[in-house]
Amino acid sequence: MQELLERKKGLHRSILIVDDEFVEREMLGDMLSDLYEIKYAENGELALEIIKRDKLTLSLVILDLHMPKLDGYGLLKLIRSDSELRRIPVIVLTSEKEAEVKSLQLGAADFITKPYEAPDVIRARVGHSIELAEDSIIIHETERDGLTGLFNKEFFFEYGKRLSNQNENMSMDAVVLDINRFHIINELYGRDYGDFVLKRIGGSLHDIVRHSGGLACRSGSNSFGIYIPHSPDLRERLDRYVARLDESMGDHKVSIRMGIYYDDGSVTDMERRFDCARLACHKLRNSYSTCYDFYNAELHSKELHGERLISDMDKALDEKQFKVFYQPKYSIKGDRPVLTSAEALVRWFHPEFGMVGPGEFISLFESNGLIQKLDRYVWNEAAAQIKAWKDKYGVYIPVSVNVSRVDVFDPQICAVLTAITDKNGLTAEKLMLEVTESAYTDNAAQIIDTVSALRGCGFKIEMDDFGCGYSSLNMLTSLPIDALKLDMKFIRNICNNPKDYRLVGIMIDIARLLEVPVIAEGVETKEQMELLKAAGCDIIQGYYFSKPLPAEEFDRLIEAEVQ
Ligand code: C2E
Ligand code: CA
Repeated sequence: MQELLERKKGLHRSILIVDDEFVEREMLGDMLSDLYEIKYAENGELALEIIKRDKLTLSLVILDLHMPKLDGYGLLKLIRSDSELRRIPVIVLTSEKEAEVKSLQLGAADFITKPYEAPDVIRARVGHSIELAEDSIIIHETERDGLTGLFNKEFFFEYGKRLSNQNENMSMDAVVLDINRFHIINELYGRDYGDFVLKRIGGSLHDIVRHSGGLACRSGSNSFGIYIPHSPDLRERLDRYVARLDESMGDHKVSIRMGIYYDDGSVTDMERRFDCARLACHKLRNSYSTCYDFYNAELHSKELHGERLISDMDKALDEKQFKVFYQPKYSIKGDRPVLTSAEALVRWFHPEFGMVGPGEFISLFESNGLIQKLDRYVWNEAAAQIKAWKDKYGVYIPVSVNVSRVDVFDPQICAVLTAITDKNGLTAEKLMLEVTESAYTDNAAQIIDTVSALRGCGFKIEMDDFGCGYSSLNMLTSLPIDALKLDMKFIRNICNNPKDYRLVGIMIDIARLLEVPVIAEGVETKEQMELLKAAGCDIIQGYYFSKPLPAEEFDRLIEAEVQ
């Protein structure tokens, strides 16, 4: 830039005159030599050598079209298509009208006709072309990233918006491209190689937008963006692009990740489109190999919703927005079903979203450990409820609470549960614990230790979702459990699928072998209930008897029982 400013002030400007005719060359040189340093070349090939050598200092090329070896048209094309030479303006020497049009189309800045016009006219044309080119370079350099020649981020968005204003409702795809672990590439292979990679990627993106009529930018040290007219075959084009890029990278492994906003009309603002593409790209940040993904609005709003639930959780616990519902379990051993216990199932009454079921937040809270807080809250509520029912009706209704797989790793779990039962004056077996079968198979040693310790403190353990967790038969015989709860998906079809019914029979046999009672969950009809009874099932939980109910409504079930 400094060099350019000096040249603008009139210092060191040099011009290359390319003409195979000696006299013409000299004549033109004489006209300009008081203002510029003049270099000469007698054919296109020689000229190209000089241009490449002096690319940083040459201010202008004056080019005859008809020359041996490489002619003027050929040289002009080469200059215009080379990103490092493109900035040098070219004035064409011509004697035919058609040649003027053709050379302007090829990117010539101006032309000088032969025989030569008055020296002042020629000097004015030369001066004007140089000035225009230099001004545009100054503009170019503030708009562009020096290494790749792509737009910088600010101008990218500026031009992108201009493009949108000129082409209202134009459908545009946005792609964010990051180089995976770029700092490692720099450290392992050196900064020169890092620069080579950036230039290669920059060049390849430039090619894409040149063909599609979009814009490309380098938006950060290892980030790029392209904004291109929507294309239904974008996926195929990206596949081809990735394959070409891989080939061109040479021996060292360089991988990229791309996040794409594929225009479906849902987002119209350019910056928002890039936010979407960046989100999709960010999700791939841990990848080692080249990959791309499309922004998915539905998934994203789910994630946002999840984030919202996470951030609202503490307040919700403080404000008791979580309510524990109770679903009764009935023993079907005798002539008439008898209420034996209940399962505590949590619901979130969110001030904005209304009633939110556990399906929406349990696994979310399990994934970040927050479940422990919620479970302790539910355990406390359930224990207090057992006590409240005892106080009100004189009977204990044992309640089973869910113990998440995360709780199993808490070394304090026995102490926490014991403190809860103690606080409510309950013996441990009144608060039963449901542990999902898959937790046993995930980490058998840990869970067996924890569950044994809990049983040692007097708690009863029900294995939840039995049949889904792939326990091996020999493992089952050594498991410390007090009841098996059959997963509801086995119950669903027992009436019309004999195989399912047979399977339930086998699971009941296993429970017999382990000498523990069987609870069937998700029982919705009388037929299911009767079949289960015939198969020897002990306890039933499901809509056939009742949905999970708020404690006040559950009162009525107890009242019916104790009358
Ligand atoms: P789960 O432990 O298998 O609970 C049984 C689920 O089946 C409950 O769904 C219950 O409402 C539903 N259900 C009961 N009877 C029927 C029926 O006849 N038909 C059908 N279709 N469904 C029935 P819910 O309340 O949505 O709970 C879903 C899961 O969320 C529970 O599955 C449990 O794994 C988890 N969960 C609920 N509350 C808690 C909690 O406080 N802590 C933890 N860690 N997990 C909880
Ligand atoms: Ca359960």
